[in-house]
Amino acid sequence: MIALDRVFELIAEHTSDLICIHDAENTIRFATPSSKSILGYKPEDIIGKKLTDFLSDEFINEMDFTTLVRFFDRPDARIRYQIKHAEKKLRWLESTFTTIGKDPLKEYSVLSSTRDITESVHLTDDLMNALAKEQELSRFKSNLYSIASHEFKTPLAVIQANIEMLKVKSGEKILKNALLSMEEEIDRLNGMIADMLELKRLTIGQVNFNPSELDISLLIKDVIDTDCKKAFPEISIIIKKEDKDIKEVSGDYSLLRYILSNLLINACKFSKKSKEVKVVLSKTDDHSLKICIIDKGIGIPLEDQESIFKSFYRANNVGNIPGTGVGLSIVKEFVALHKGSINFTSVPGKGSTFCVELPT
Ligand code: ADP
Repeated sequence: MIALDRVFELIAEHTSDLICIHDAENTIRFATPSSKSILGYKPEDIIGKKLTDFLSDEFINEMDFTTLVRFFDRPDARIRYQIKHAEKKLRWLESTFTTIGKDPLKEYSVLSSTRDITESVHLTDDLMNALAKEQELSRFKSNLYSIASHEFKTPLAVIQANIEMLKVKSGEKILKNALLSMEEEIDRLNGMIADMLELKRLTIGQVNFNPSELDISLLIKDVIDTDCKKAFPEISIIIKKEDKDIKEVSGDYSLLRYILSNLLINACKFSKKSKEVKVVLSKTDDHSLKICIIDKGIGIPLEDQESIFKSFYRANNVGNIPGTGVGLSIVKEFVALHKGSINFTSVPGKGSTFCVELPT
């Protein structure tokens, strides 16, 4: 039979958990050799220290250190924390503390048992991220179904009505008007489908970002000519440069085009009676390019303002102005990919100003 002392020695030598004995002050008085793999230090290097000495700065910054230390001081507690390992950088550990009993010299007061749980913490994080993505996707799908049943139905109904009319009526003018109306509805449908696809690509993390030097004025003019003039011929869009040397910006052509197109189309379609939209280009103090799109339209009610960047959200004053409520949520993500920012001010009934800042 093996002697009990030898059994304890074998356990201490071969345990994969780190077992420490602490004095009443929580200072480590004994540690098993597994300290090398758990903390990256030999037992003799950690004796005289406390487990809190190894906490990572990131973890301390997130926690209130005094509360945290109190946790370590509490016998019979179980705590998860992050440490800076001597070699393996940041690791997650879990310790349990057990009171040993009354030692008159207070040298052997608490026993701690510590395990490296980094892999399981990462696994849980991955699972939580996957779950969040899955939930986002399912929210996206159910929103898509309700949008499809409302918004997609209207243009299809208009097209259907025009076809029915052409079956019974003839004449050059009637044909021309019907074709024009159908073309408009098809553009609308295409726009909505493009938005949905963009949102889906964003949701599943498939958007590419390929920046190059772009002439911003040319890009804005192209968006006005192709996306706005045809759909909103009654609105005049003025471009004003507040700084002469504004020319190039580093950006992804298609993402930047989407941002400008969405903001300009919104400014036009929510303009209602006002016939003027302004684009003002300027430079900020930190040399970023600032693009402000200003309209004098219906504005955004105060209670809706904090939600308009959420996907599928539409303010309650949109009436029958068409839309899906996804454009701005995509714009926000695309601006973030450029490491830029987007802000707006809006007064209901008076108009809105959306400003995008992009580092140059
Ligand atoms: P959509 O235009 O398809 O409804 P967006 O995501 O582009 O979706 O915009 C979300 C909502 O924000 C709009 O439905 C509208 O309520 C509000 N909004 C955006 N731009 C303007 C604007 N220029 N003027 C008034 N309301 C706006």
